[in-house]
Order: sequence, then C-alpha cells, then structure tokens
Amino acid sequence: MNSEKNKYITDTSSLLLGQEGGSGNTPPPRGRGRGRGLFPGSFDPFTLGHADIVQRALALFDEVVIAVGYNEQKKGWMPVEERMASIRKLYADESRVTVASYTGLTVDFAREHGITAIVRGVRTTADFEYEVQMADVNRQLSGIETVLLPASPALASLSSSVCRELAHFGHDISAFLP
Ligand code: ADP
Repeated sequence: MNSEKNKYITDTSSLLLGQEGGSGNTPPPRGRGRGRGLFPGSFDPFTLGHADIVQRALALFDEVVIAVGYNEQKKGWMPVEERMASIRKLYADESRVTVASYTGLTVDFAREHGITAIVRGVRTTADFEYEVQMADVNRQLSGIETVLLPASPALASLSSSVCRELAHFGHDISAFLP
C-alpha cells in the first residue's frame, strides 16, 4: 500500500538531508560540485546585508562572483573602482570569491562567465515581485536560474540607499558596513 508514494518520500528526504547518506540534521556538503554563483548588484555601498548573502551563497556554490553592475550614464555614489576595491579587500582571504564589474545585461555577463545560477537577496514583497520577474526573464533569455535568498531578519531593513542617505546627512554608517 502506498509503496510508490513512500519510496518517493524516502528518496526526496535523502536529497533534502544531504547527498552522502545524511540523516537527521546533517547539512549537505558545502561548496563541492556546485558550480559558480553570480551575485550581481550596484553595491553602492556594499553592506552587511550583501556580505550575509555572499556568506550564504558560499555554502551553495564552489565559487561566488560578486559583480558590480553599473550604468555608464549614471554616476553612482562611490566610483565603481572604489566599490570593487573595497569588496576585493574584504574577500582577500577567500579564494572562492572573485570580484568583477559589468555594464549591460546581467544574463550576458552570466553567460560569458560560465555562471551556474544568479543569486539575489529578498528583503520585502516589493523585492520579491521584482526579483521573480527578473528571474523569469533571465531564465527565458539564457536558461540560467536565479536563487533567491531571504534576507536575514536582523539585516532586512538595511539597504545601500539608506546608507547613502545617512551619509549624506553626515551620519557615520560604519556600523552597517562589513
Ligand atoms: P541592485 O541595484 O541590483 O538591487 P543592490 O546593491 O541594491 O543592487 O542589491 C544587490 C542585491 O542584494 C539585491 O538582490 C538586493 O535585494 C540584495 N540586498 C540588498 N540589501 C540586502 C540586505 N540587507 N539583505 C539581503 N539582501 C540584500
């Protein structure tokens, strides 16, 4: 009775609980055979919220490429080179992280750099609606999937734009930066 169903459930749970005979709460093995994740963003500036997403992406992928996207027509708050330099410094000891910049479509960059999946953080329902739309378009254009990671609750109110606003009015924002 229900043998097919039970078999299915058993097989699924072994997938969920780890690939090497894991049971109970054994997490899946980290960073092996999982390809290259792309974390694209403006990172103007790179905040604790971004760093949290990178840390979690490192548990999912062998490598994480942090790519600073910019628009040649729009001047950012921090020059792109400065954003990249500060992110590079942060991950100087993490050989699995690389930092790049790009202009144009994220999927084009992803295709050109052998990306397995795009990673984005989701803080709010507004983020979610936007990200789902982008993920769908990107998948249709390139076949590349997007992994959406919910923001850690303690960091969910943090955004680069809030940091810029505070800095503009002379507040110290170092507590929000890694
Ligand atoms: P973009 O202009 O592409 O949205 P951002 O630098 O603002 O670039 O954000 C890059 C990614 O990081 C986005 O997926 C965004 O949702 C996510 N993100 C930003 N702040 C946080 C945070 N505090 N927690 C989790 N994810 C975040």
